[in-house]
Amino acid sequence: MTASPRVHVFPPPMDHHYPVQDGRVQTRSLEAHVVDHCNLTCAGCCSLSPLLPDWYADPAQLARDLALAARVLRPRVFKLVGGEPTLHPALPELIQVVKASGIAPKVSVTTNGLKLADMPEAFWRDVDALTISRYPRPRLTDDLVAHVEDQAARFDVSLNWKAQDTFTQMDRETPLGDGPDARALFRDCWIRERCHLIRDGVFYTCTRPAHFQTLHGDTGAFADDGLRLDDEPGMLDTLLAYLQREAPLQACLHCQGGSAPVAPHRMLSRRQIHAIKAAYP
Ligand code: SF4
Ligand code: SF4
Repeated sequence: MTASPRVHVFPPPMDHHYPVQDGRVQTRSLEAHVVDHCNLTCAGCCSLSPLLPDWYADPAQLARDLALAARVLRPRVFKLVGGEPTLHPALPELIQVVKASGIAPKVSVTTNGLKLADMPEAFWRDVDALTISRYPRPRLTDDLVAHVEDQAARFDVSLNWKAQDTFTQMDRETPLGDGPDARALFRDCWIRERCHLIRDGVFYTCTRPAHFQTLHGDTGAFADDGLRLDDEPGMLDTLLAYLQREAPLQACLHCQGGSAPVAPHRMLSRRQIHAIKAAYP
């Protein structure tokens, strides 16, 4: 294992293609966000973590979600994401739930790395891959990086060190109208193909609606952006139609998409977070 960063192509190419094999749609990835909160406060966090209350995924609910999803979906990798997933005290159990579901050949965790020195052996034994975001501040110490590399080598865990000096500024202050611009934004947004989410029995083509719903509360209609999974025979066709829809999500009206302009990475202060949250119910 080495610490050399992987080269990322940005924006990633889209293919608008969802092949079906053995009754399951073959996708790049599927993810579950296992906590909403984080130990950092990055401005422009895609998951809106600095603005959201603490929340922990229930392993039993994740198992139910995956049982439904595995009937119609075959992602190449299943990702446990957050917020910061290492804040979940049952993260090793959650990894085992994903493995037991058989939904994907690989289980990955996406983390800012700060708590990786605290992870128990069960975590290192069961996880297949880690994507570790590296921000200009706070920097991971050399000792922590060395520990991660040693553990990864010992337990045969793939490491993807991802330098994040800049952040895509996806949030939109004034909502977009539900017209041609929103349709084009959704059509061309690579996130709709690469960041599929499962949460509370609902599949989302992008992670944003579930978090917008938490942020906006009863005033939002973002839950309708997802597709509730069931075990009826028509689910596969319904899923394919959902993946290929042309109508933008409600969330797209509040978003600039995955190819929005970038800005240097920075942390929000507590005061800035309070000011942003004051605009929501
Ligand atoms: S570390 Fe990740 S989840 Fe946490 S605030 Fe930053 S971007 Fe969001
Ligand atoms: S524009 Fe935003 S909300 Fe719409 S699919 Fe892309 S990332 Fe998701």
